[in-house]
Amino acid sequence: MAHKTYDTVFLDVDGTLLWVDLDVEGYVEDLAPYSTNGPLTLEKAVGPVLESMREHISQNIHYPTREALDRFKRENQRRTARKLDVEAPADVLAEVAERRISFVPYKESERVMGELREADLGLYVVSNWDALLEEVLEELGWTRYFDGIIASAVVGVEKPAPGIFEEALRLSGTSREKAVHVGNDPVADVQGATGYGLDAVHIDRGDGGGAPGAVAVLPDLTGLPALCGGRRV
Ligand SMILES: [Mg+2]
Repeated sequence: MAHKTYDTVFLDVDGTLLWVDLDVEGYVEDLAPYSTNGPLTLEKAVGPVLESMREHISQNIHYPTREALDRFKRENQRRTARKLDVEAPADVLAEVAERRISFVPYKESERVMGELREADLGLYVVSNWDALLEEVLEELGWTRYFDGIIASAVVGVEKPAPGIFEEALRLSGTSREKAVHVGNDPVADVQGATGYGLDAVHIDRGDGGGAPGAVAVLPDLTGLPALCGGRRV
């Protein structure tokens, strides 16, 4: 493969830098005292909880502010509770939902982001995420790695649509040829970026399926600094 040098790296978040852990067992434990129709079981909860997560992922683009997103989340939580015959105050539902979701970094993520910075590469998050992405990254202590954070709900366009990559490119002030997008999703990340004329690196952590069009496929982020060329090896 020809060695190409970039000056800017766009990074996806979920499935690329971290994974989202939904603790349904913990959720059941927290809400069991509020069950109005027999014991709340894992079996009963798992479907509606996952459905609620899917609803959040597919709809959050419509809620660009914290206030709007909060209202949407509370409505979603109330709907889920109703399916589970749980009657709990809205604040309890919100607190439990927050407590039982965690964002777990892959083991190499921080090291690699540090290496990319040391190699003088511009680093931008380009993520299909709700309006609170920046807070999530702050809580992880990660905002220091990034020159900019582009969340779909804030800019109003989701990968694979070109508009989000266009916004990233605009914010970074670099040229299409000098930027590379890195992500785990063959469609959102690889098709999206290449469709816009950007090089794409596919992070394939074992999901399989392949991603035609990627300039490279990596099993995790470790090889990224060398590949991006900021650090000449
Ligand atoms: Mg992803």
